[in-house]
Amino acid sequence: MLDQYQSVFASDYHSVAFKLANNCPICEGEGTPLGDAASIDKNKSLKIKLLSCSDCNHWWHNPLPVQECLNSLYEEGSNSVIGSGWSDATKNDLSKPEKMLLALEKGYETKNYLEVGVGKALLFNQFLSKGINCFGIELGQWGKNNPNIFPDLDDVPVSMQYDCMVAMDVLEHLSDPKVMLKKLSALANAKTRLYLSFPNNQSLRARFYKTKWRMILPYGHIHYFSYESAKKMLGDSGWKITTAQKTDLYKYERLRKIRRLFKPNEWLKIMREYFGWGDQWFITAEIL
Ligand SMILES: [Zn+2]
Repeated sequence: MLDQYQSVFASDYHSVAFKLANNCPICEGEGTPLGDAASIDKNKSLKIKLLSCSDCNHWWHNPLPVQECLNSLYEEGSNSVIGSGWSDATKNDLSKPEKMLLALEKGYETKNYLEVGVGKALLFNQFLSKGINCFGIELGQWGKNNPNIFPDLDDVPVSMQYDCMVAMDVLEHLSDPKVMLKKLSALANAKTRLYLSFPNNQSLRARFYKTKWRMILPYGHIHYFSYESAKKMLGDSGWKITTAQKTDLYKYERLRKIRRLFKPNEWLKIMREYFGWGDQWFITAEIL
């Protein structure tokens, strides 16, 4: 069965690419099947199981690709992890959680900034333009023009006092998100602020659509978090949650367009945002 997954999703990877994950990767709890999900690559018809943890409500895919395999898939820009068209898609605006992060950071004086998953560097450049020393991690081919951007967290300067650490839309892509969080905690000090965002499996859409929820994009996305699984993951990695908000990526600016308020669809969007039914967690954390 694992061979079949390897031949479909990682045929160019020549070590063992997949492992079975019948138990929760966050708390070891028992996995209950939610159904079969379609790959992020619409050209691949092999379905991927979505499981839910009976203890912490975490959702994950089974089988699970090992991290080395994921690294090689991202390096080659494989459709198994980025789908088709992602690298051409233009993202010109900061996401809602990124804007929330910038607003929170205004109150601090930051010397050193560390961002995992720099992507197209929209957020990274915001910090750079403030004269802050910025360090980043980015595996993909995009965003490699800065000497302070490294392919792996193991390569960043360890002597640096990082005031602010960011991993937005990163943990859901990793085989074991605790490995990354433990490495970050080893680089953090008592004053370090950690900002995270990742999919919220308790959102309105998640509960309703399950395997067809828009965030279910294996093997681009592998993990979908409940509050309990986020708390457990962070706690096991040396962090504690300071704030946890849910957002539906709804932009307040749209409210200015009064005419939209006469559309029922707009009210559904506003309710999802303000009642905490949103698809995304925005979490701040500090060292334990
Ligand atoms: Zn669990």
